[in-house]
Amino acid sequence: MVSCKECLMNDSITEFKIVKDGLCNFCIDWKNNKKNIGNFTNDQISSNLLSLKEIILKNPNKSGYDCVVGLSGGTDSSYVVYQLWKLKLNPLIIHMDNGWNSKISNQNINKILEKTKFDYKTLILNWEEFKDLQRAFLYAGVPDIELLTDHAIFSYILNYAIENNIKFIISGVNYATEHSVIPSWGWRKDDFSHIKKIHKKYGKLQIKSFPKMYPFKKFFYEKILKKITYIDLLDYLNYNSHEAKKILKEEFDWNDYGGKHHESFFTKFFQGYILPKKFNIDKRILHYSCLIRNKEISKEDAIEMIKLPFLETQKIDEYKNFFLKKLNLSHDEFDIIMSKNPKKHSDYDVNLYDNFIFKLAKKSVKKFLG
Ligand SMILES: [Zn+2]
Repeated sequence: MVSCKECLMNDSITEFKIVKDGLCNFCIDWKNNKKNIGNFTNDQISSNLLSLKEIILKNPNKSGYDCVVGLSGGTDSSYVVYQLWKLKLNPLIIHMDNGWNSKISNQNINKILEKTKFDYKTLILNWEEFKDLQRAFLYAGVPDIELLTDHAIFSYILNYAIENNIKFIISGVNYATEHSVIPSWGWRKDDFSHIKKIHKKYGKLQIKSFPKMYPFKKFFYEKILKKITYIDLLDYLNYNSHEAKKILKEEFDWNDYGGKHHESFFTKFFQGYILPKKFNIDKRILHYSCLIRNKEISKEDAIEMIKLPFLETQKIDEYKNFFLKKLNLSHDEFDIIMSKNPKKHSDYDVNLYDNFIFKLAKKSVKKFLG
């Protein structure tokens, strides 16, 4: 196996290559982009945040809220809400319940909302619909089942902003800990047509209330009709998730829940069991490599961490039973799903026209400041 000198990436990942001096393409990209992100002095950070605040306040709307933000109870989104609170902005917080949230993430959300006194809305997905969608994606054999959750929250927030004329959506997406993207592991999150295509083949119920978005609608409302701006707030400071966790603990008595995105049981089991076993995907390689580059952990620590089992070995049966029961799958059905060859999302691609618009929209997205 060929591995990178500095991170954990290796040639089990299709997109991996060694570029020069033993460094992989992901490390080289990081070094090139790092010049612009995350190297701020304290004064620059304060001025970045104040400029953002100023720009937001200069564009008021009738909703009474300055901006809208999604809160999952995980580190990144919790830290965004903390920053908005410190800036004395008045966001509307949107939290989604897809039926899989862990107790810890719900407690985290409650603690944050109690202290900040921010207004919030909880989007509760229709469980029967969402279950049918998740089952359809499992049967379809594609690796990015999480896009269902991402699509729902993203669409709901954008639709809310459109309806209420809110100009700013603040996100916890950040370069520091999420800078590498592996296209073969995922799929775009903004296209309900893709979801519909898979569901039509493998689903049973009619999908009525699930939030929907389409690339053209997104492009039209964001760029032309409503001019909505996304702010990846964590890119305006030197984001470090370990430091963020400490601050959240101090301020809100916030609790850590283990692995990245393990605030949801589905994610925990999916990343810890289905992805490695069926797709030979170990997301920890990607995540730890980002943390190494962001100087949050050493490579030596990461090598030790990756030797650990994905899930607590003695709990795997318990987790699996819970997962299957919740999705109404028998052990036999699950074994068949796991034994089938993985499929690509592009096997269910739909819309050439939308893909064109998507590329165009991506090109026109500019960094908000500087
Ligand atoms: Zn590397």
